[in-house]
Amino acid sequence: MKTLQELIRPNIWSLAPYSCARNEFTGEASVFLDANENPYNQPFNRYPDPLQVQLKEKIAALKGVRPTQIMLGVGSDEPIDLIFRIFCEPAQDNVVAINPTYGMYGVCADINNVAYKQVNLNDDFSLDAQNVLDACDANTKVIFLCSPNNPTGNSLERSEIEKIVTGFEGIVVIDEAYIDFSNEPSWLASLNAYPNIIVLQTFSKAWGMAALRCGMAFASEDIIAFFNKVKYPYNLNLLTQEAVLKQVEAVEQKNKWVETLLAERSKMIANLQNLPLVKHIYPTDANFVLAKVDDANKTYTYLVNKGIIVRNRNSVTLCQGCLRITIGTPQENQELLTALAQMV
Ligand code: PMP
Repeated sequence: MKTLQELIRPNIWSLAPYSCARNEFTGEASVFLDANENPYNQPFNRYPDPLQVQLKEKIAALKGVRPTQIMLGVGSDEPIDLIFRIFCEPAQDNVVAINPTYGMYGVCADINNVAYKQVNLNDDFSLDAQNVLDACDANTKVIFLCSPNNPTGNSLERSEIEKIVTGFEGIVVIDEAYIDFSNEPSWLASLNAYPNIIVLQTFSKAWGMAALRCGMAFASEDIIAFFNKVKYPYNLNLLTQEAVLKQVEAVEQKNKWVETLLAERSKMIANLQNLPLVKHIYPTDANFVLAKVDDANKTYTYLVNKGIIVRNRNSVTLCQGCLRITIGTPQENQELLTALAQMV
């Protein structure tokens, strides 16, 4: 791995971050006349904890990492954007990502004026590490991997990811937004072994809190320190911090949802396979299935007219003819299957 100083943009390396009023003292206090808040309308009058100390302690215990190895963002979309802002010099550096994959990596690259190089997965959506490494050059700062991958649903093979993590001198992002639905172990267990990885997870999927906007980035303490310097000071609002904390304390509830959704996923796959219009269901480790159908555009429009919305992936590389279908409640899943069975 290159040194962090070689990987981080010089202006970020030397950045003096904004100092929150409440971070400037230590010890106990009861009179807060430091932040130009209104003393009335508790608890919303006070700025929230900029470093989400309480919440990170709970998450650290749950995930087996140290609180200082965690950055919490407004969804995992926030750390994705910050990775560009921390590591990639606009109009100079580039990143490499697999294709197809989650669309925000490319959008954030465009917003930050960073070249986005895509490397196609194999036809069965498996990863060829050498192809990814071959696409890198001296200005490649970050490689984006997503496992289980969106929209294909499969997990990338661990040994191939490992070749990239050990063979690349820069940062490797492993987006695990759908890890709760997979039997594959998380890369979090390897956080201490590989100082160049950033693992992303989110409360938007298995945890059922997409509306609250809370995502997690896990990395070395040194990398997390830069996330903390660059993020907006009060990025997670009070209501989000409180609600996520409560839900993290109720992890059994999340596990039950996952169990239900996995059972529904198996049923959905079996039922879809019985429909003549369905040509193929790809193996999935996520809470969605990618289904190849006779005519994806026609099927998508037919479903929209019935008030059922799936994701049309027909124009996505390697996904021609495919719809991405999220697993819903038993009733929602049945509505979809009934509608598809009635399509002529
Ligand atoms: N990563 C992947 C692979 C995703 O599919 C998504 C959402 N669709 C995200 C990250 C972002 O999720 P959020 O910002 O809600 O955490």
